[in-house]
Amino acid sequence: MVSDVLRQIPKTDVVLALPEVAAACDRYTRAQVRGVVQAVLDDARESVLKRGRTDVPNLDEAGAEVLRRLRDQGVWSLRRVVNATGVVLHTNLGRAPLGDEVAAHVAEIARGYSNLEYDLEAGARGSRFTHVERLACELTGAEAAMVVNNNAGAVFLMLNTLCAGSEVAVSRGELVEIGGSFRVPEVMARSGTSLVEVGTTNKTHAFDYREVVGREQMSALLKVHTSNFRVTGFVEEVEPTELVSIAHEAGVYALYDIGSALPLPAEALGLTEGHTARSALRDGVDVACFSGDKLLGGAQAGILVGRRDLIERIKKNQLARILRIDKLSLAALEMTLAYCVDQRTALERIPTLGMLAMTRKECRQRATALARRLAGAAPGLSSEVLDTVDEAGGGSLPGVELPGAAVSVRVRGMEVSDLERALRAWRTPIICRVHEGAVLVSPRTLLAGDEDVLLEALVSTARAHAAGGEATHS
Ligand SMILES: *Cc1c(COP(=O)(O)O)cnc(C)c1O
Repeated sequence: MVSDVLRQIPKTDVVLALPEVAAACDRYTRAQVRGVVQAVLDDARESVLKRGRTDVPNLDEAGAEVLRRLRDQGVWSLRRVVNATGVVLHTNLGRAPLGDEVAAHVAEIARGYSNLEYDLEAGARGSRFTHVERLACELTGAEAAMVVNNNAGAVFLMLNTLCAGSEVAVSRGELVEIGGSFRVPEVMARSGTSLVEVGTTNKTHAFDYREVVGREQMSALLKVHTSNFRVTGFVEEVEPTELVSIAHEAGVYALYDIGSALPLPAEALGLTEGHTARSALRDGVDVACFSGDKLLGGAQAGILVGRRDLIERIKKNQLARILRIDKLSLAALEMTLAYCVDQRTALERIPTLGMLAMTRKECRQRATALARRLAGAAPGLSSEVLDTVDEAGGGSLPGVELPGAAVSVRVRGMEVSDLERALRAWRTPIICRVHEGAVLVSPRTLLAGDEDVLLEALVSTARAHAAGGEATHS
């Protein structure tokens, strides 16, 4: 009888009371573990009702299954994944990963109290901005600096403080949308400034700015880096130096949303292009801003640099509180900026920079080593090394191609979409590109330990496919 079989399925509370399952509640929450227990029991019920099974898990088996699922899938929504895409700053995968030293420092600040807003010398209230100001100035050559939650916030605060109630001119070629939610015209409107569009989509000349810069309400010329696209063909834009001279002749500010700035000269990373915040400021821009977790390779933050009087006004804006950076990001940012002072240290300790600098030769070497480990590791698993074009990603260096290499992996008789899905469903999800019927594993974006995860996942998936079943997580 179906009802007799169903009655043999253990009760939720009984499974939860098993010592190992109860112990798992320390690592997760009781509600999360209960959710997994219920899912396991629901599956057992379903196999009886829908598939007519008569063998249901006993108490120990149910407990073991709960522990297996907790171990393999975890219960957290936000989880670590392996980025095998070769896209260094993957917008969907959390942009810049932090290096071990930086992550350890963040953990230390996270675990304890800190002098976040306490002046240790004076024994009195201090400012959270002081922790990174000197380093940000050193890196960019600025007089003053301030940090907020992200670069979108930095742009908003800069405009709201310096230009609210007045007009700001922007080239039509620079009215960008970034990441689906940051649109320059909208951000400007919300900041209380009126946008004056100049030039055309492909060409904006100095005379376009000159025509409007003298308007009574004009307070700034804003340059916005076209971070995630590139216009080719008949294109012209006004370089920062010229924009600055037009602005300053008319007595208005020259502002620059750099978006993503390299902390090192492009040549140091083997890149053919890419600008630093230092070069933007050298051109005489009054205030510039950029992201902390794009090419800088630190934590999510918006860094404002420029003239001291203007930065001081921005700091005093009441809205700065709403956009303030949290202590964990600040800890990561301080250390990242400190590493940037020395090129070698920066390349060694800031993963983003190391990944950008990786040559095709290094990518090939790593891909070949991985392919060798995969060779014959499981029935039907085949791989070959091929050259790829990797990307900086994250709206940072559009059109810049990073010559790379990848391991192209197939499992005999398995659809590539199934292989891609199996890797994505692995206990540490692995995200890959798909190319010509194979998944591509790009060593450029693999971090320490990722290759072992990949090997295990691929071997297990191939074995399971050969055996005609589902992948089992050993
Ligand atoms: C990325 C980017 C932003 C937004 O920066 P977040 O750090 O994502 O808030 C704004 N402007 C430009 C030009 C960008 O490239």
